[in-house]
Amino acid sequence: MSADLHIHTTASDGQLTPRQVIDFAIRAGLNTISITDHDTVAGYLELYKESIPLQIIPGIELSTNVADCEVHILGYYVDVNQEQFAEVLQHLTKDRFQRAGKIIRRLHDLGFFISQERVAVMAGNSHSIGRPHIARALVEQGYFASIAEVFQTVLATNGPAYVPHYKLLPKEAIKLIQLAGGLAVLAHPGLIKNETLVKDIIGLGIDGLEAIHPKHTSQQLGYYQELAQTHRLLITGGSDFHGIAGRYPEMLGKFSIPSSLIKEMEFALSRKT
Ligand code: AMP
Ligand code: FE
Ligand code: FE
Ligand code: ZN
Repeated sequence: MSADLHIHTTASDGQLTPRQVIDFAIRAGLNTISITDHDTVAGYLELYKESIPLQIIPGIELSTNVADCEVHILGYYVDVNQEQFAEVLQHLTKDRFQRAGKIIRRLHDLGFFISQERVAVMAGNSHSIGRPHIARALVEQGYFASIAEVFQTVLATNGPAYVPHYKLLPKEAIKLIQLAGGLAVLAHPGLIKNETLVKDIIGLGIDGLEAIHPKHTSQQLGYYQELAQTHRLLITGGSDFHGIAGRYPEMLGKFSIPSSLIKEMEFALSRKT
């Protein structure tokens, strides 16, 4: 029995539609998944009325910012219709849309001419426009050979065309998720590269740590599992699948977690209510 609790779809910056994700997950033999798009639950909403032979946990990955660090907070079992939660998501995605326009203007100033229309095509039905969509338009236009090259040259955080988007503070994201009845989990703590900040976030009342992530080394995996145990936090994990060629894992099912971790999440949730 295996699960994957970190998956992106075309509702944010993934390449597969929510329906395709479900089909691939079933074929890969996964029993439980969570669609955790950046700042939107549109992918989950698209599916939740269908009957699907797979447990789907409603999820989200909120981008937050503190001390100049980007910190991602995952939310699981959220009530996607909770008023405040839905309102904040609407604000975040609207701001992402405006920010894309600002990035496109910066790129023009740098001599890279892509249109808002092409970015919209790349974003498809995404409700959460991000740098990857802009990067795809730049590659399509022939300015760069790959998405990785776009990030290296212009779109990296604090790069020449970088514009931040509105972000919550980690403590606001944690509160929002918990208010919507969900469990808040610190995403890929090893990518933050600031252990003081990780400990500060644990102090804010987070419910779990995503110790199991493809970009963690085996040392980081062990370290965060132990850190979670010390602080009595849940251990979660997932592939952070985007369906992007060259970005591991390229297929669902290649990186998964044991379903026993889901039971522990459900137990923690039952103790809260
Ligand atoms: P945004 O949320 O719009 O600032 O974009 C961040 C997203 O861009 C991340 O979630 C990744 O999916 C993607 N990303 C960030 N850095 C890179 C990179 N160096 N190469 C490819 N994709 C990246
Ligand atoms: Fe992403
Ligand atoms: Fe992330
Ligand atoms: Zn992610």
